[in-house]
Amino acid sequence: MRFDGKTIVVTGGALGIGQAACILLAERGGSVSIIDWDEAAGSSTCEAITKAGGKAIFTKVDVSDAAAVEAAIKRTAETFGGIDSLIVSAGIQRYGTAVSTTDEQWDEVLGVNLKGAWNAARFAIPHMQASGKGSIVNVSSVQALASQQNVLAYTVSKHALLGLTRSIAMDFAGENIRANAVCPGTVDTPMLQWAASLDPDPESVYDACRKMHPLGRIAQPSEIAEVALFLAHESSSFVTGSVWTADGGLLTQIGGVPQTN
Ligand code: NAD
Repeated sequence: MRFDGKTIVVTGGALGIGQAACILLAERGGSVSIIDWDEAAGSSTCEAITKAGGKAIFTKVDVSDAAAVEAAIKRTAETFGGIDSLIVSAGIQRYGTAVSTTDEQWDEVLGVNLKGAWNAARFAIPHMQASGKGSIVNVSSVQALASQQNVLAYTVSKHALLGLTRSIAMDFAGENIRANAVCPGTVDTPMLQWAASLDPDPESVYDACRKMHPLGRIAQPSEIAEVALFLAHESSSFVTGSVWTADGGLLTQIGGVPQTN
């Protein structure tokens, strides 16, 4: 899968799954627009790509800020001459139930995970309409299809992201603009490191995560990025409105029985 001559916007492209997607896209000839609020990580990912001979720009943006996202998308189109694909990977996790979640947590999580995805789509789609094609990939979660305890706002945001994906798929199919979602299981990224650090024994969190997946391990960011790249690429030209689990079999097993391997 080559991306020569293609421009791909990646929100959350500074770290984790988004960063892996940016690196793979650039290695395969794509021009990458990294949108992220982490200036240090975004700049360093951008620099690493350009030093390796790839094409990338970085714009510091909070994806929940519509005007900032609009400006970053405009800058992308002006720099690279259009937008072919959008990968939405910016996301945050906060913990709480329907009772303990605060207004601030709800607004923060829904603002980044859901409104952030809508912001990116709504300003990227007109550029796709102008060129007569496009592909949007929303990185959701297995928590779009099931839930754990104490993750109310996150689970709501990830379920809703599937609704956003399907709505976009329906509204723009006639203009050859596709939208799909990827639902990863546990992935070894800074988000997981942060979640594990909340436990007095972080290694036990990793161990439990490994055992939870029938493949007996957690994913590397590039393993999720590869699925997103396929959906962003014209190789998946008849795929729209779909939900792809990349979860090491997590949602396939009955009863969540821990694995012995
Ligand atoms: P990560 O924390 O490692 O990376 C997320 C990136 O998004 C970071 O670069 C961060 O700076 C950026 N970001 C966060 N909030 C932002 C905002 N408001 N504006 C701009 N940028 C922002 O996370 P990750 O593990 O790579 O997760 C990527 C996506 O995959 C998220 O949507 C996450 O919910 C989802 N996901 C992750 C896992 C996992 O186990 N890591 C599992 C399932 C789904």
